[in-house]
Amino acid sequence: MNPFSIYVHIPFCNLKCNYCDFYVVIKHDKKNPLLYSLLREIDYFSEIYQDKGYLQTIYFGGGTPSIVEPSYLAQIINKLTKIFKHPEDIEITIESNPNTIDEAKLKEFLAIGINRLSIGVQSFNDDDLKYLTRDHDRNTALQSIEAAARAGFENINIDLMFSIPGQTLDDWKENLRIAVQLPIKHISAYSLTLEPGTSLYYQSKRGLIYLPSIEQDADMYEFTMDFLPENGFVQYEVSNFSKPGYESIHNLNYWYRINYLGFGPSSHSLWDNRRWHNYRNISKYIDTVNQNRNAIKDEEFLNPTEIYNERIYLGLRSRGINLKQLEEEFNINLLKHEERFFNELLKNGFCIIENDMLRLTKKGYLLVDEICEQLML
Ligand code: SF4
Repeated sequence: MNPFSIYVHIPFCNLKCNYCDFYVVIKHDKKNPLLYSLLREIDYFSEIYQDKGYLQTIYFGGGTPSIVEPSYLAQIINKLTKIFKHPEDIEITIESNPNTIDEAKLKEFLAIGINRLSIGVQSFNDDDLKYLTRDHDRNTALQSIEAAARAGFENINIDLMFSIPGQTLDDWKENLRIAVQLPIKHISAYSLTLEPGTSLYYQSKRGLIYLPSIEQDADMYEFTMDFLPENGFVQYEVSNFSKPGYESIHNLNYWYRINYLGFGPSSHSLWDNRRWHNYRNISKYIDTVNQNRNAIKDEEFLNPTEIYNERIYLGLRSRGINLKQLEEEFNINLLKHEERFFNELLKNGFCIIENDMLRLTKKGYLLVDEICEQLML
């Protein structure tokens, strides 16, 4: 039996951050109807997929799923783990924000089976946090991590962001120095991107803000790729670093193109190269589930070229591409297909090949998008 993952989107947040393009709602009046619809949607898909694999990970994302009561999430976890076969140590992650968790609530999360906590810290610098319109400060962030450790969470991730306007390389170094002293096992370090539709995006279009230059962004990223491994955090994807054995299985499954089911408004699913996504509106989601028992807005069947491109893109961003398997699946010898390009990449240290695995080096990660573009069909 093959593994699969489940993502549950809880869209509630206290505020909408100025850089955020996730589907988020500030009003929480539809909390209970949402739960009812989630449970109904799970029932619908369980009839189709119950015997098609075993459930390896559950991920509560959002939004800020830590806003809702543990008993709310427990209803979802109990249903999923009752329906689907799963290992004893199934990985269950919740995303959280520092202002929404305290020791008592975190203990309850552990008690209902959640064993991985991801905290949206973003920065330990109050100026950065104000800039990003976050509703927490440095002290709250530090206290939330300490509370999580005291509550008994062993597997803690923090999200950190670089290339924030006004942030210097020294500011970023200070964030990382603080992070590696904390009782955490995983760091996701992202460069701020301006997503169309966000408030920061419009400010930048109007010339009101300036992101750090490409060179400054590269300096921060290069420092991250040197500093975190020196402090015990192994890089296993472009933006993700963990202590050995604490890689996010859920994320690895996405990068290996393992099947996943998404529940909730705006969630995406992939099963045997059929891809679909739900309505990105809580009312529409609830109404559609009430009518159809699912809320699929669109679906597509990926063709071999699209699958190949995903293998290239996801593999190069994470643990690499198995060249032998790629050739068996698509009848393409990647090295021969792009011989001159690979000669250059290898000569200049952008990638390495070991036991049929093609991997990008740190230098290669800096150019991952450009390299993928060249290799995709
Ligand atoms: S807390 Fe997270 S999900 Fe909510 S608005 Fe901010 S960035 Fe978006």
